Amino acid sequence: MSAAKVKRVVGKYELGRTIGEGTFAKVRFARDSQTGDPVAIKVLDKEKVLKNKMAEQIRREIATMKRIKHPHVVRLYEVMGSKTKIYIVLEYVTGGELFDRIVHHGRMMEDEARKYFQQLINAVDYCHSRGVYHRDLKPENLLLDVGGNLKVSDFGLSAISQQQVQGDGLLHTTCGTPNYVAPEVLNDRGYDGATADVWSCGVILFVLLAGYLPFDDSNLINLYRKISVAEFTCPPWMSFSMKKFITRILDPNPMTRITIPEILEDEWFKRDYKRPVFDDEDETSLDDVDAVFQDSEEHHVTEKREHPTAMNAFDLINMSKGLNLGSLFDTDQVFKRETRFTSKCSANEIIKKIEEAAKPLGYDVHKKNYKMRLENVKAGRKGNLNVATEVLQVAPSLHLVEIRKAKGDTLEFHKFYKKLSSSLEDVVWKTEEDMQKSDEK
Ligand code: ADP
Ligand code: MG
Repeated sequence: MSAAKVKRVVGKYELGRTIGEGTFAKVRFARDSQTGDPVAIKVLDKEKVLKNKMAEQIRREIATMKRIKHPHVVRLYEVMGSKTKIYIVLEYVTGGELFDRIVHHGRMMEDEARKYFQQLINAVDYCHSRGVYHRDLKPENLLLDVGGNLKVSDFGLSAISQQQVQGDGLLHTTCGTPNYVAPEVLNDRGYDGATADVWSCGVILFVLLAGYLPFDDSNLINLYRKISVAEFTCPPWMSFSMKKFITRILDPNPMTRITIPEILEDEWFKRDYKRPVFDDEDETSLDDVDAVFQDSEEHHVTEKREHPTAMNAFDLINMSKGLNLGSLFDTDQVFKRETRFTSKCSANEIIKKIEEAAKPLGYDVHKKNYKMRLENVKAGRKGNLNVATEVLQVAPSLHLVEIRKAKGDTLEFHKFYKKLSSSLEDVVWKTEEDMQKSDEK
């Protein structure tokens, strides 16, 4: 008998699959059990957050984020705390990451890049005006909704993982994705959150237009040097006004770097600019935020595990429906970070076959019950590729196998999955694509 899906409930939410893993948190899909609405829940280690020197700043930023209802910022609905964890309930964004489009389709035309950049600057400007800085603007935090609009995630949350405020009141950091990080951040002489965010927006804009990073080097020392003097080359297809603009943003000196009010006045930026209209503010209760940060025990939620039940046909249909929802927004543009297949082999057989297929591809295999973690021994573009798999029983002779990118580069994951699935031919009964096709009939 293989593992069946255990239902987990936190507060009024039913937890679902893990949709992503960041450096300090796991993001899980969940559903509001009263309304059925989907949400994403970021699960953090409580100790790390509350023991952080910046706990007070984090509390303030989370409280501010709860009030912000900007069309290009991922909504933060509420915060809950258990004995050991903090749950941040977020708007669930279904269109994938913005950069998956670049990986898939290459660079963008200027008009398209401008549209996303305007949405990005708008979100950043609004949060800055409320005193919240991002400090970790990078492709993984730029999501797209079903309508193809940009949603910036993790505003106000980066403080949890990285920085420590020192005596001078400026931010200090030692890690982060160096490619997007401003020179003054790397120098660690303390920096201003606003100008550092502007720099990261510039790197993002450059990648959208060029299809490659402005600063890149396999040698970290060289990379730091290139960033600190802003050594980059614009591709020949960039327009003159574009080059002028990007050079003002990627100014290594934060004192002379273009500011957001100046960006809003720039000729390249202003073209077709429509400031979004939205309902600014309403009454938002902050009781939940206060309860979590005061670590008030009477407000603790507990993560309840409901009795393990074998997945039934209904669950399976629900699952494939979820997949189809994503594909409403044209499937081939969204790069999936997870896939599934069904198999008529036994669970042990499936696990053995996956293990045998993954090892020769250079993967370490860690097994725990019916879950497996495949870890690439070599580091890729975004660190070691980590793949998580789980075998679930649907019917006595039918298993569902989930394969999900846990860490690393999405494109590398796809290459890996292609190789893996070709050696699993006699195990796979139906792939996710097969299941979707039969669903559409
Ligand atoms: P990172 O440090 O890479 O931003 P996160 O913990 O924020 O890590 O999230 C991990 C992944 O989960 C993201 O890269 C994204 O693909 C996905 N994700 C995060 N938040 C949401 C959300 N609100 N809706 C849908 N997917 C999300
Ligand atoms: Mg994120």
